[in-house]
Amino acid sequence: MITIKSTQKTFTEDEISRLTGICAEHLRSVAQSKHLGSIVRAAGAVGGQAERLLFTHTDLSVLTALFSPCEH
Ligand SMILES: [Zn+2]
Repeated sequence: MITIKSTQKTFTEDEISRLTGICAEHLRSVAQSKHLGSIVRAAGAVGGQAERLLFTHTDLSVLTALFSPCEH
């Protein structure tokens, strides 16, 4: 059972990874294949922009329902 703050609207990859147990690498591929999360471009990275994934509560529910934590 995952407990989250109900006031929290979006989750970063790191948070999702910690909550679901799915590693960042798999999370990315899952997000891509299932069209979950939204990519935001964050300025500030050296040499340009960094792409970050943000997930909603709905994305989180889908991820926990469909995928098990990584076992590698
Ligand atoms: Zn993994």
